[in-house]
Amino acid sequence: MTMTGEKKRKVICPATGEEIGRMEETPLAKVPLMYEKARQAFPAWAEMPVKKRVEHLRSLRLYMLEHMEELVQVITDSTGKVAVEALTADILTVVDAVQHMEKTAASALAPRRVSTPLLFFGKKSYIEYKPRGVVLVISPWNYPFQLAMIPVVSALAAGNTVILKPSEVTPLVGKWIETLFHESGFPEGVVQVAHGGKELGAGLVERKPDYIFFTGSVRTGKIIQEQAARYLIPTTLELGGKDPMIVFGDAHLERAVKGAVWGGLTNSGQVCMSVERLYVEKPVYDRFVRQLVKEVNRLQQGRGTDDDLGSMTFPGQIDIVREHIEDALARGARLLTGQEPSRWNMDNGMFLEPMVLVDVTPDMKVMREESFGPILPVMPFEGEDEAVRLANDSPYGLNASVWSRDLEKAKRIASRLVSGNVVINDVMITVANPHLPFGGVKESGIGRYHGDVGLQTFCHQTSVMVDPGKSASEVNWFPYRGKYPLFLQLIRSYFGEKKAWWRFIKSYLHLLRK
Ligand code: NAD
Repeated sequence: MTMTGEKKRKVICPATGEEIGRMEETPLAKVPLMYEKARQAFPAWAEMPVKKRVEHLRSLRLYMLEHMEELVQVITDSTGKVAVEALTADILTVVDAVQHMEKTAASALAPRRVSTPLLFFGKKSYIEYKPRGVVLVISPWNYPFQLAMIPVVSALAAGNTVILKPSEVTPLVGKWIETLFHESGFPEGVVQVAHGGKELGAGLVERKPDYIFFTGSVRTGKIIQEQAARYLIPTTLELGGKDPMIVFGDAHLERAVKGAVWGGLTNSGQVCMSVERLYVEKPVYDRFVRQLVKEVNRLQQGRGTDDDLGSMTFPGQIDIVREHIEDALARGARLLTGQEPSRWNMDNGMFLEPMVLVDVTPDMKVMREESFGPILPVMPFEGEDEAVRLANDSPYGLNASVWSRDLEKAKRIASRLVSGNVVINDVMITVANPHLPFGGVKESGIGRYHGDVGLQTFCHQTSVMVDPGKSASEVNWFPYRGKYPLFLQLIRSYFGEKKAWWRFIKSYLHLLRK
């Protein structure tokens, strides 16, 4: 992309190198006004009953369905991904999540009654979920629609107003989102889109939103978290991954091979949850690798609706993939498919052939750092303990998969993995189940979204206790005279053995009567 003129920027399709539009960036100077608008719109939106808010979500969903193919085109042109992936991973997941929120938001956000201990006899307790205010959503380029829309819609359903800063790498998708909210009739100021790069992102954080929902790299996540900490702004961080796939000898091997190929190469591997480390049990390792190569060689790369693999999206990512492959080859790894970096040819778009890499070791960059490209590095392991040790030996913990016909064993391994998500005999799919919370551990992030918690996270919780207000005093209030020994007895009997129960009741009633 090159600058042409003051703020208009040329937008290029990464799969063809052709210009697909021009994009005007939001000037930094406009940021205060955006916050003012968002704050003005907040009270009316927050007070609107959830049932009315989700009617807006319904209009949004119907607009998306009506304009689905236009949206597929914008996403494929902007990212170079193939149409099926734009449709299933970007659009279907959003439509599904929106419909899920239409059905569940009212109950997820309703005040929740909780028990009240016997010591507070006569009182009642509940939790109320209240919108936080103005939520800033910052999103990446790999699933530019899904990863912007789901947090935005969740924040809106919970009663917040939102400022979205989509990725500058895929600006036309951000523009489409702006039109989508406008055309589906959202009130003025409830959703605003700020178009631009990291300076604009930093400027938006600096204006102190009430919550930040960030999806992107660990590096940027840490910068944002530091900035947010200065103002004590709460955040959710959805960051990178280096997901392990563990294949046991008793797995359905053909299924595991096909799962690895899809899990590692969908979206050209530019997925936070793509399979980035393959561990295969020794007795089936050779067979697995042979089948993997065969399956990868069957893939069709291109731009058509029948093609499997699209292009890379972001030029900077190609440099990272190159660095990882060069490091691995220099240390003795071998490529069984694809080309060495010196032979890569990007003359006709940023297409990278998928690479099966063997003879890798755990210390290589390709096994430690996020590659975010079409690489399948495979290494053998022996037994459950080694599989768990290798899989957990990572600064990341976003998703993982375990493959075995022995489901008890697979579940046993799953619970030993330090990971926000685990899938057994499949890959990635937890993120597509709107009932399940999604997020990472370790450097893969902080917080969860999706599911009820994904709406509640955009609320602050108020804990309320209610007393009928009929008695003149409470036992723990002043005066304390004579209460110390009684409290001693009360604590011992209430928290001690069961047989002391009646003694406690007697002493409690005695205290109440005083
Ligand atoms: P990135 O961190 O470079 O950028 C993400 C967003 O942050 C962009 O909108 C960018 O403009 C903005 N930004 C950059 N610097 C900023 C700053 N200082 N202040 C405010 N905003 C700033 O990430 P990317 O390259 O767009 O996305 C790829 C990364 O995202 C990968 O690491 C991937 O694993 C991760 N990711 C995570 C998830 C998840 O759910 N955990 C999903 C998809 C992608």
